[in-house]
Amino acid sequence: MANLDAHLQAALTKIEQAGRRRVLRPAAIAPQGRLVRDTASLIDFSSNDYLGLATHPLLTERAREWTQRHGTGSGASRLVTGTSAEVIALEHRIAAFKGTEAALIFGSGWQANAAAIPALLAALPGAAVFTDRLIHASMHAGLAISGTRQHRFRHNDLDHLAHLLASKGREAPARVILTESVFSMDGDVADMPALAALAREHDAILYVDEAHATGVLGPRGAGLSATAPGGVDVIMGTFSKAIGSFGAYLAGSRALIDWFSNAASGFVFSTALPPGVLGAVDAALDLLPDLDSERAHLTSLADRLRRGLGELGLDHGASASQIVPAIIGPEDQAMALASKLEARGFLAAAIRPPTVPPGTSRLRIALRAAHSAADIDALLEGISACR
Ligand code: PMP
Repeated sequence: MANLDAHLQAALTKIEQAGRRRVLRPAAIAPQGRLVRDTASLIDFSSNDYLGLATHPLLTERAREWTQRHGTGSGASRLVTGTSAEVIALEHRIAAFKGTEAALIFGSGWQANAAAIPALLAALPGAAVFTDRLIHASMHAGLAISGTRQHRFRHNDLDHLAHLLASKGREAPARVILTESVFSMDGDVADMPALAALAREHDAILYVDEAHATGVLGPRGAGLSATAPGGVDVIMGTFSKAIGSFGAYLAGSRALIDWFSNAASGFVFSTALPPGVLGAVDAALDLLPDLDSERAHLTSLADRLRRGLGELGLDHGASASQIVPAIIGPEDQAMALASKLEARGFLAAAIRPPTVPPGTSRLRIALRAAHSAADIDALLEGISACR
């Protein structure tokens, strides 16, 4: 035991010396896009509860109802006892929301990617895989489990992807493209219609992570996969961000969902989500179609923020969503700016390598429907004063 701790201490010292040791700090969610940390009330520009649904009374009430009806834990894996009639009905609702034949609920977004990708590739032995350079760590975890080599294309560069599709893995029995519709650290979006057309042209299967688009972008918040004519073969999304709860879904054809429920390890061997968590998702699906004005408000806040950052001479990359980076560059400068902003009442976390490439450390500013234009102006003033 003591020996293990000594090894761990050495490993922790190494990341500490590189200035990358992370610590957990207590924080509590407060209304109006605020949170309380160390007794200070901060305007929260870091959580992904984009529509404020995590504290919506309809969600808390439905979570309570489902908990009272079914208990706090689901007791077993979905395949054993963990599937109630409500869960099956909820999966039908998710499929209808996404415009697919079927959907399957997973324990978390991380778990969904880490389980679904190796399951998909197990059905496609010898497949060639093409990945955007900035896909999420959970997709890399899935690829690592599957042991598949990837052909990486430059971020959101469909010409590069077309070139790779024309030249690599042409003899493979199947080809799979893995990407995201909204990238979590840049807030830029994939051109979904063009991507779907490219996949079709090269007879490739398209897998899209909609973690940050679900609920916020696309018709009635259905995500950007809904904007691809002919659809997307495999769609993954989370309930942990705009949906205001926890867990995730995979959506696609009936055959795809049947396969995942047989072959996705993180589904088969993991206990079903607690009923209350799913009750909240059910309530969020009641609300989402009618939140167009909140979605439009997010768009206008993002435009205002990007304009303001531009006026301050700060690069916001290709952001086209509710996620807006203020790219600072050196890690220490991004960290210093985030901590000065916190002292002024703003939580806008600094994101640094390895989460983003070296030299592109940034504030990742996540907008929420509860923010006002005045909140954006105050943040911009804070950034201007603290730089
Ligand atoms: N995919 C992407 C693109 C994400 O940003 C995240 C969350 N950071 C996940 C998957 C994992 O989702 P969850 O937090 O629900 O595990």
